[in-house]
Amino acid sequence: LAGAMMNADLTINSIMSYAKKVYGNVEIVSVTHDHDRFRYTYKEAFKRVDKLANALSKMGLKRSDRVATIAWNDHRHFELYYAISCSGFVCHTINPRLYSEQLEYILHHAEDKVIFVDKTLLPALEAVKHALPDLKAIVVLCDEQDLPASDLELIAYETLISDEPDSFEYPELDDQAASSLCYTSGTTGNPKGVLYSHRSTVLHSFSISMPNSMSIGNNEVIMPIVPMFHVNAWGLPYACPMSGAKLVFPGNKMADGKTLTNLINTENVTMSAGVPTVWLALLNYLKQSNETIASVKRFIVGGAACPLGLMKGFAEYGVEMQHAWGMTELSPLGTINVMKPELLKLDEQQLDKIRVKQGLPVYGVEMKIVDDEDNELPWDGEASGNLKVKGAWVCSSYFNQIESDAHDHDGWFSTGDVVTFDEHSYMTVTDRSKDVIKSGGEWISSIELENIASDHPSILEAAVIGIPDPKWTERPAIFAVKMENAEITEQELIASFEGKTAKWCIPQQVTFVNELPHTATGKLDKKELRKLYL
Ligand code: ADP
Repeated sequence: LAGAMMNADLTINSIMSYAKKVYGNVEIVSVTHDHDRFRYTYKEAFKRVDKLANALSKMGLKRSDRVATIAWNDHRHFELYYAISCSGFVCHTINPRLYSEQLEYILHHAEDKVIFVDKTLLPALEAVKHALPDLKAIVVLCDEQDLPASDLELIAYETLISDEPDSFEYPELDDQAASSLCYTSGTTGNPKGVLYSHRSTVLHSFSISMPNSMSIGNNEVIMPIVPMFHVNAWGLPYACPMSGAKLVFPGNKMADGKTLTNLINTENVTMSAGVPTVWLALLNYLKQSNETIASVKRFIVGGAACPLGLMKGFAEYGVEMQHAWGMTELSPLGTINVMKPELLKLDEQQLDKIRVKQGLPVYGVEMKIVDDEDNELPWDGEASGNLKVKGAWVCSSYFNQIESDAHDHDGWFSTGDVVTFDEHSYMTVTDRSKDVIKSGGEWISSIELENIASDHPSILEAAVIGIPDPKWTERPAIFAVKMENAEITEQELIASFEGKTAKWCIPQQVTFVNELPHTATGKLDKKELRKLYL
């Protein structure tokens, strides 16, 4: 017997119509190369989305054609998200920090038909100008007088939309239709495209808005620092209009402590989200400038493990760091750290041990851990295994990649992360499977050692990789960057591991370096590190 309820389509269009009607007066604030502080409302934003949709409709695009964006977190990028997807095209967000060969590969693989590019990022496109796919237009996110001279034929965004009507008849879309495309940075092999659907995007937005997740309500002012080209800024540009939260876009100032602090204080930002590196930069700025960020309640930190020191650093500013784990293939949210009430009786030290974990699975993503023979392992805090997931916003196959279905024969997606779950269901990521250090038949967690090293007051950042060892197969080696003006010897750093991890896990080798290599998404690039030092 079928239920007798309507089958409403879960489309991004529905988020737009809702926000327009119900939260039309909520603000969006944005920093761009041509505006220190652009400000308008959802109602005004969606009028410009309609103008853009009219312009797109004249470009000769077919349903599901890919339209690329190479842009920062700002209001024009927000407009592109909605106009492209709601018109039935696929919004392909591109990371501007990719190497030219990767950019070229991605543009061709996605068969992008139009590119919208930020003025400051045009050089990245010009670097591959002889290898561009067959394009209908290249639009620069600026107005006519700002349009730079170039060998490429360019259109100014503001000119493109200026004479268009501010209403548009959007097509009826099936919610299973593709809405956006994001390539993983491909630390192994070529980048792979994850093709989100309207439905997966809407369901993910519901999920991240829940109180036990990112808790997004109409009383929040949210500043996504995580880039809109990195898994759709973790879904915030969809979840915020759905919940009527004010959005603050920092443009390309995500590493600029002064601008971020100013935005936070003048716009009353309550929550923000980003990778540990940006929080480290902001914390350093706050310490040096003696400024505060009183309006902020929470920072979501994910994309890489967050050391306890960073959490404690922000606690002094009244900010709770909420640890989350996700992947491009998961839209991205899989787990997030919220305290279960029954655990609040624990003392601060025990609570800290829980806070640094990646958190509880969110409803909607089923999870299990398995050994190398695919046997399921218990959630006892001890057994560590390969994490497999399943759910309505998990990638089922990579875009245009015939040889590799993303999921295993049993329908589960192998994340490539090695994790434990404790008896309260909190997940701890111990490693990416390819970074696990195998020593004397045991596994050593590189993340655990990195956390211990970077909690040392003289250490800014640390990476741990396995180096070949004739007796133990591999031994962990630390590569660390010292804090400015800090004095610390290799022996002192090694000594600081005493009592914090098992004796046989303590690294014997330390190399101090001026900087560590990072990937295009700002994570430690261990592949590059191995290339440099092994
Ligand atoms: P890539 O880094 O390859 O571009 P993603 O951005 O999708 O791809 O990264 C997903 C990976 O990042 C996860 O598989 C995991 O290894 C790592 N990761 C994400 N969040 C965390 C976290 N909170 N702690 C540790 N690792 C994390």
